[in-house]
Amino acid sequence: MIVRTRFAPSPTGYLHIGGLRTALYAYLFAKKNNGVFMLRIEDTDQARFVEGAVDKIYSGLHLAGLNWDEGPDVGGEYGPYIQSERKEMYLPYAKELVEKGKAYYCFCTKEELDARRAEAEAKGESFKYDKHCLHLSKEEVERRIAAGEPYVIRQNIPESGEAGFDDVIYGRIDVDCSELDDGVLIKADGMPTYNFANVIDDHTMGITHVMRGNEYLSSTPKYNLLYEAFGWEKPVYIHLTPVMKDATRKLSKRYGDPGFEDLLAQGYLAEAIINYVALVGWSPGNDREFFTMDELIEAFDIDGLSKSPAIFDATKLRWMNAEYIRKLTPEQYIDHARPYLEAAGVGHMDMDIFVRILQPRTEVFTDITEMVGFLAKLDEDYQIDLFTNKKSKTNPEVCKSVFSEVIPLLKQLPDWTETTLHDFLMNFAAEKGMKNGTLLWPIRIAMSGQTVTPGGAIEIAALLGRDEALRRLELGLRKLS
Ligand code: GLU
Repeated sequence: MIVRTRFAPSPTGYLHIGGLRTALYAYLFAKKNNGVFMLRIEDTDQARFVEGAVDKIYSGLHLAGLNWDEGPDVGGEYGPYIQSERKEMYLPYAKELVEKGKAYYCFCTKEELDARRAEAEAKGESFKYDKHCLHLSKEEVERRIAAGEPYVIRQNIPESGEAGFDDVIYGRIDVDCSELDDGVLIKADGMPTYNFANVIDDHTMGITHVMRGNEYLSSTPKYNLLYEAFGWEKPVYIHLTPVMKDATRKLSKRYGDPGFEDLLAQGYLAEAIINYVALVGWSPGNDREFFTMDELIEAFDIDGLSKSPAIFDATKLRWMNAEYIRKLTPEQYIDHARPYLEAAGVGHMDMDIFVRILQPRTEVFTDITEMVGFLAKLDEDYQIDLFTNKKSKTNPEVCKSVFSEVIPLLKQLPDWTETTLHDFLMNFAAEKGMKNGTLLWPIRIAMSGQTVTPGGAIEIAALLGRDEALRRLELGLRKLS
């Protein structure tokens, strides 16, 4: 048997972290078993359709490295891969169920249903479709259809007995049929409902393993009744436990939790997100934490899937991202960092220095904006107490005298490279018999207006360039005078 898994998003927005994880596990499982990972777009609910959402799904999955073997844009022998394009396929299956007595035409109008619902609620009962149209004669059904009356087709759920299935994560799930509603399979507009289409598609597309969120757990017994009605083999069900924000709340866009592309925009690397997300709800069985996609494929195993909800720990992701950033080559680092450096107004400065001083400190790329803010613009109102530092043996008075001596000499340097600045400043301190710190501390304060900076005095001076560095030093001297 060839393992075939699918990711079946509805185009209702963006790729959220739960969806990304579902797609990832379905992908890993397929690849691990030399199987096929398929993408299917579930757009039968036109009312929920969001413009541009399909493209977001494609771009999100591509950025994540989850490339599908079959799908809307790449094709495959089980297409079309967009449900609305399969529209004509569903009705014959629904009619087959009608023939078998497992489904029936229903002509109840919305008004009639609303009235019956209100009646049930008035009696304190919950409303369930009452099989009102189940007993219409074949002739009456044909007559009403021929007369152009709108209709839906409903599933005929047995009135008693149990429907159940085995789930890999949740075990055996059984429900009383009396609790299930005769749900709509084909809507008045001829479109199948999600509940019907997913069964027809999973079967006709040869899906062997269904991985999806646990919100489908309660509908799956109904799906199984459909498989049984058709006499089809059921797929293996793997309902994943939810991705939680904390002990009580699911991660959700509605509460402002970021989706996959939001995280990318916030300066996370796709590889780090994938690595982290894989571990939210799956464990390799040891304490290994770092995996490339190929290593995940190698290590992935359904037995490692968690049976309890997993918490998405933003701090842990940030830590992991920092580790990934540190492992980038200088060129890769600059590729990612450049847009942030340019936006911060320091894109013209020396990139080699940036790699050296920023890469070890970047946890997410958006950190860069704040780290280099002082380079783009000095906050000239900094306090002169910053010049006082015990370890460097400095205070405003010492700093003033350092500046008076060193600024005129700096002005005469033949060039303004890190090497020249380094050699000159080290010689100067040695000649004067002062600690390096006594010289470098005031220079760094005057050039940055802050006590903590990425990089030291020499790197900052080189980044700023001669004119701006000297302007800032002179300002420092004026503030001290
Ligand atoms: N279209 C469903 C969703 O986006 C997928 C459910 C499934 O995987 O069967 O949630």
